[in-house]
Amino acid sequence: MDREKVIKAVEDLLDALGEDRTREGLKETPRRVADAYAEILSGENQSAKEHLLKTFNTDCGDVVVETDIYFSSTCEHHLMPFFGKIAIAYIPDGKVVGLSKLARTVEVFAKRLQIQERLTSEIAQEIMKYLSPKGVFVVCEAEHTCMTCRGVKKAGSKTLTFATAGDFPEKKREEVLALIR
Ligand code: ZN
Repeated sequence: MDREKVIKAVEDLLDALGEDRTREGLKETPRRVADAYAEILSGENQSAKEHLLKTFNTDCGDVVVETDIYFSSTCEHHLMPFFGKIAIAYIPDGKVVGLSKLARTVEVFAKRLQIQERLTSEIAQEIMKYLSPKGVFVVCEAEHTCMTCRGVKKAGSKTLTFATAGDFPEKKREEVLALIR
């Protein structure tokens, strides 16, 4: 990210919106917005590889589920936040990963310009690629401010997305869904 360019672009945006950007409340806004973008887009060009390779051996072959991993991300269609929670379930193939590493994986993909469908499937793909379980199933439930603050203004409406990688039998997917609903 080119910080100076972002600052300039926000100044131009405020001008285009007809605002007086020299007034007290707006004076520091371009700089604050640039700093905010640096943080909310910090997952660009990152991989969860280093987190997902920190594994422990196990002979447990049953589903491991981590629920309620809270995230916030940025909708690439409107540059507005969407946020919610993610559940990750996987069937280990000889190894498991520390639970905090799953949350770190979510962060890497949430801190980008995203759409919810891609966020969900990228998490599943990354876990499949580096942790190599038998199968992984990811469920994402999110509220989009581009829907709740504008457009149809459906306050509280939630969007659900699912992604599977590897072999995660339907019966087990149903068990996971029953657990998190
Ligand atoms: Zn949007």
